Amino acid sequence: MEVEKVVIVGSGPAGWSAAIYAARAELQPLVFEGAITDENRIAGTLPLGQLNLTTEVENYAGFPAGNLEGYLDSAITTSHRLNMAPHSKHGISGPELMELMRQQARNFGTRIITDDIVRVDLKRHPFQLTSARGETVGALSVIVATGARANYLGLPSEEAFKNRGVSACAVCDGALPRFRHKPLIVIGGGDSAVEEATYLTKYASRVYLVHRRDKLRASKIMAQRAEENSKIELVWNHTLAEVLGSDEQGVSGVRLQGTLKPDSKTLEAAGVFLAIGHTPNTAFLQGQLELTNKNYIVLTRPNRTNTSVPGVFAAGDVADDYYRQAITSAGSGCMAALDAERWLAEREH
Ligand SMILES: Cc1cc2nc3c(=O)[nH]c(=O)nc-3n(C[C@H](O)[C@H](O)[C@H](O)COP(=O)(O)OP(=O)(O)OC[C@H]3O[C@@H](n4cnc5c(N)ncnc54)[C@H](O)[C@@H]3O)c2cc1C
Repeated sequence: MEVEKVVIVGSGPAGWSAAIYAARAELQPLVFEGAITDENRIAGTLPLGQLNLTTEVENYAGFPAGNLEGYLDSAITTSHRLNMAPHSKHGISGPELMELMRQQARNFGTRIITDDIVRVDLKRHPFQLTSARGETVGALSVIVATGARANYLGLPSEEAFKNRGVSACAVCDGALPRFRHKPLIVIGGGDSAVEEATYLTKYASRVYLVHRRDKLRASKIMAQRAEENSKIELVWNHTLAEVLGSDEQGVSGVRLQGTLKPDSKTLEAAGVFLAIGHTPNTAFLQGQLELTNKNYIVLTRPNRTNTSVPGVFAAGDVADDYYRQAITSAGSGCMAALDAERWLAEREH
């Protein structure tokens, strides 16, 4: 069995940033970028990560609005370029940014396998990682950057309007022109739902916070913040039944359904923000790495990417249920590569 110096699992901003740093440090990284399967498509975990599921990215430093067409043509291989949607001239789209990161990692010699890691043995060293196709590789160090996925209710209308008014990230999408000075809906009742609703009041004319119970699950202070905000209207004992809209216009409203009585009501809105939690992609790590009660990887040293197993590092949303941004993921990917490099050097690998 071949033993790699560093194996990176995952292909979002954290994985590619780790690969760029590891490759430039001459660690010859091997990236498992995930498999192209229907299961991953439905779960939202295809290669290139969450950003590949969105349109404009307005908050990743270094990409102001402008026409990147010529640059994209010159920077990305023709086969991948032909599969990409036409450039919008708006700035950069999620898929464009992710293809650029992947290409940058390849340019420095990163090797890529398009498959999922489904099993790991971190109790022996070199570590062993097994892919869905049954290939096993050995690794002196591992960087886990498998991200997380936003939870949705699973309604067909929700799927139909993703990127056209349905979102799971207020910080990412709230400032888009389509949402400005319009009523918006937030679905959820926890701290992050209140945070999303409060954030959206900066742009929206009104925010309806729809919760299936008659009391928020959020902490007392957060619940109070929602109740005292004159732009937030709480809609109790209701759940989202259908997102309304058209192909041309995108989202125009919602149909809500009572959770106590069989009543139904419609609200006009330009956007629907789901705030019902995230699921970190850590199923293959159960029993191998310390995870939180919500299955995020536990980082064991402050301001470092070390995990409960020496030689295994974690970066991006898989270990972060707080910031959840592309740029913070990329930053921690860099940190994980530097941590792995130093860990290997201390052991003279
Ligand atoms: C719709 C949407 C819009 C967003 N817009 C913005 C925005 O405008 N700006 C911003 O900063 N952030 C935005 N975000 C958040 C941002 O996308 C995430 O914070 C970021 O992508 C997290 O990066 P990551 O590298 O941790 O992992 P992810 O992007 O989650 O990628 C990890 C990937 O690793 C792969 N993987 C998973 N498991 C395995 C496995 N077992 N084996 C191999 N590979 C595996 C999968 O392909 C998975 O998708 C948005 C998120 C969403 C969902």
